[in-house]
Amino acid sequence: MPGGVTRIFWDRFDGLRNMLGMIRLKVASMAAIFTCFLTLMLPHALSAAEAVVTDVRVGPQARATRVVFELTNQVPYNVFSLSNPYRVVIDMPEVGWRLPPRPLPGRSGVFETLRYGLYKPGNSRVVVDLRQPAIVKKTFIMAPIGTYGYRLVIDLVGASKAVFTRHQKAGPIKVAQLGTSQFVGPKPPVTVIPAASIPTKPSVNVVATSPQAQPQPQLPQQVVAASSGQNVQNAAFQLAPRKPAIRPQNEKRVVIVDAGHGGPDPGTIGNSGIFEKHITLAMARELKQRLEASGRYKVLLTRQRDIFIRLRERVQIARDAGADLFISLHADSIKNRKINGPSVYTLSENASDKEAATLASKENKSDLIAGIDLTNENRDVTNILIDLAQRESMNQSATFAGHLIKSLKQEVEVLRNTHRFAGFAVLKAPDVPSVLVEMGFLSNPTDERNLRSRTYRRRFAGAMKKGIDAYFSRVEEARSR
Ligand code: ZN
Repeated sequence: MPGGVTRIFWDRFDGLRNMLGMIRLKVASMAAIFTCFLTLMLPHALSAAEAVVTDVRVGPQARATRVVFELTNQVPYNVFSLSNPYRVVIDMPEVGWRLPPRPLPGRSGVFETLRYGLYKPGNSRVVVDLRQPAIVKKTFIMAPIGTYGYRLVIDLVGASKAVFTRHQKAGPIKVAQLGTSQFVGPKPPVTVIPAASIPTKPSVNVVATSPQAQPQPQLPQQVVAASSGQNVQNAAFQLAPRKPAIRPQNEKRVVIVDAGHGGPDPGTIGNSGIFEKHITLAMARELKQRLEASGRYKVLLTRQRDIFIRLRERVQIARDAGADLFISLHADSIKNRKINGPSVYTLSENASDKEAATLASKENKSDLIAGIDLTNENRDVTNILIDLAQRESMNQSATFAGHLIKSLKQEVEVLRNTHRFAGFAVLKAPDVPSVLVEMGFLSNPTDERNLRSRTYRRRFAGAMKKGIDAYFSRVEEARSR
């Protein structure tokens, strides 16, 4: 890739210029530093709103691994590190992504892979997975030169665990403008944009608010590990049950449709490069339309755009809405490409089989993948605690799963042992019957093609609606007895 080499060369050359610039900055007057500080305090960079990332490159730079983001405008940003596993997170204002149509950079030096996306309104995030502990040796923004625009540069250098921890404790590095970098801390990562306002009542646009800005559940929150939790990152949580609302028969049933993943958590990636997060949102929209067209349902989506939402936030949206049903949509992938067809999962302390346990542990990693620090969350309890109220919901969930599978079977070929169970964190609402639907395997060419097709999604959503109808008819029948 000669172009890439030339570019890395230019970045090096510019890096040198930049270093000189930084030395000059060190001896600059206090006034300049004060100005810099002012810029930090002004969270919106003037041009940040229109900034677009046009390319990402990774390559060696002396002893370091250099990660370069090409930008149309300069943006302020924060860089901080996380361990278990080792990651570097770059937060910036909401930016557009218009990358060239080629795969993202692969393994190089200490760099393993990266993902990006909208972390919350006004805040885009990049998560870099590291192959080993590494520190941010240097970071800066370069001014445009020749045919190159602004470049945000991060130099990573492998380090011992001790050095990594020391740097991590120093807090995030904030860069406000060209060629400046500053170590501030120790403080929790400060995001660039102020949090969005908190809605008092849940509504359809509940997803447009920041997950961080939403009040953390004011509930006894014993944080416990999922049953599939040999991996300590499978944080689930315990919530106090509420009495389910008895709705008059003529009132609309409230269904929460949860499009799995989003933002910097793409979910699984299909053969053709399609992200699970896009498939789940497309199906969620289809299902909402289908259900609402019947006039019997009020449907809320946990997210309406490509944005990250924490697992517990998804559960909270359902509880706040006093939902009658929660459906989390996903698509799996597996080594064996021949395996296809949808399956339905419900919550359980003990997984039905090894595959279900593995799947739950994979799906429960969403928060981790999006660059959230889970080290302060208590994850040492070994089992999900399930109380009586939860059990009632679990029975309802199983009944619903039965109806859903029956109607899916009429429309598509489903997986063997279709109804399975495991410790899915997103199914933890104690008072809302909840299921997780794996709509198919993105590793299977037929499933992938199907799920990408609007016609197929319509059929699939239609089948789901039939199952939902059947479930509520049953519930109403039971009540009227
Ligand atoms: Zn998923």
